[in-house]
Amino acid sequence: MAQRGARVVGLKCMKCGREYAPGDAAYTCESCGLDGILDVLYDYDEIARSFTRDDLAASRENSHWRYLPLMPVDSSESLPVLRAGWTPLYNGRGLLELPNLFIKDDSLNPTASLKDRATSVGIARAVAENASAVAAASTGNAGSSLAGFAAAEHVPCYIFVPADAPKPKIAQLLVYGATVFAVDGGYDDAFDLAAEAIEHYGWYNRSCAVNPYLIEGKKTVAFEICEQLEFRAPDKVFIPVGDGCITSGVYKGFAEFTRLGFIERVPELIGVQAEGCDPIKVAFDSNSDLVPCEARTIADSIAAGHPRNWRKATRGIRTSGGSMMTVTDDEILGAIAALGRATGIFAEPAGATAFAGLTKAVSEGMVGSDETVVVLMTGSGLKDSDSAMRAAGQAVPVGRSLEDVKSALAT
Ligand SMILES: *Cc1c(COP(=O)(O)O)cnc(C)c1O
Ligand SMILES: [Zn+2]
Repeated sequence: MAQRGARVVGLKCMKCGREYAPGDAAYTCESCGLDGILDVLYDYDEIARSFTRDDLAASRENSHWRYLPLMPVDSSESLPVLRAGWTPLYNGRGLLELPNLFIKDDSLNPTASLKDRATSVGIARAVAENASAVAAASTGNAGSSLAGFAAAEHVPCYIFVPADAPKPKIAQLLVYGATVFAVDGGYDDAFDLAAEAIEHYGWYNRSCAVNPYLIEGKKTVAFEICEQLEFRAPDKVFIPVGDGCITSGVYKGFAEFTRLGFIERVPELIGVQAEGCDPIKVAFDSNSDLVPCEARTIADSIAAGHPRNWRKATRGIRTSGGSMMTVTDDEILGAIAALGRATGIFAEPAGATAFAGLTKAVSEGMVGSDETVVVLMTGSGLKDSDSAMRAAGQAVPVGRSLEDVKSALAT
């Protein structure tokens, strides 16, 4: 194994608490298996001595590598070619009558989803470890993200997707030159098959639910929100939840900036699932272990019936004082159109899910108009044009003359 980041001091199983020296654990905890997802530990006292808000203000690094001291990567030498992070935080301009609403547009990452934050850390580590190939199971975005970064680094890439993944996502994978296995089954089947193949061939595993370093990339979205709000933590952050890795990362990011004294507290995290696939909400509300379910939702990126990172996600939400909620597919489609029309932001279904959650929370009086609220927009609408058409309605058919336009406008 290659050297670890200088300030990573260890890894800790989030189920049994067992600690490992950096490099001692392959992926998950030896005692707990796949349930024992590890947390990456840093020496925060040492980081606090050499890394300040002023350093960030002076940084001209327009990517998430501006947070290198809090990342599990050694130096700037092995950083990937594609640029992840430092995406815009748009002011929602009074949408939903919330003067302090902000939308974090992570569709502006290189492969058009938030997954690029995690992939960029994973690929940096895979290259540092001389991995022969990288691999992942994916509902679409983790795969296209990995395929894009692997292409840029000239590393072979194997992706396992459910056969019914949206076509644009599969097209993206193929354009990047990955070997794509369209698995006869859902995401959970793809996950299991990928795990077997990865074990068999010894490929580098880009699964956030197994590889502890990937969340270290996802947490940077929280760092950026803090910086973009001038280090005033928002009151609430709405997050779409599939496997629970984004949620876990967002919690860790806010918790680390709190630990370093950069912000005063972790905001309330509100996790939003689709009504047809809500196992993390059920586990959270009943405070019990996760029971897998059938996944039935248009939001393919959060259609994880057997989410792997539920324990970390529910822990983060609970510690933040937040909650879980669900929205229907119709509410998600409505949110795609509402967001597009009011802000010029084009979301795929999972990308609009947090906004659908906020819309519902506002209508139920859960959000005060004086609160600062951030919504994560996690993936581009171009990745699922069929859902976009369902959300947006039809074009107006006209002939070739101006008269046709006039009469169409008159009706
Ligand atoms: C993966 C993904 C999510 C869900 O993230 P999890 O870490 O699986 O909870 C949400 N939105 C988009 C666009 C995604 O690609
Ligand atoms: Zn353990």
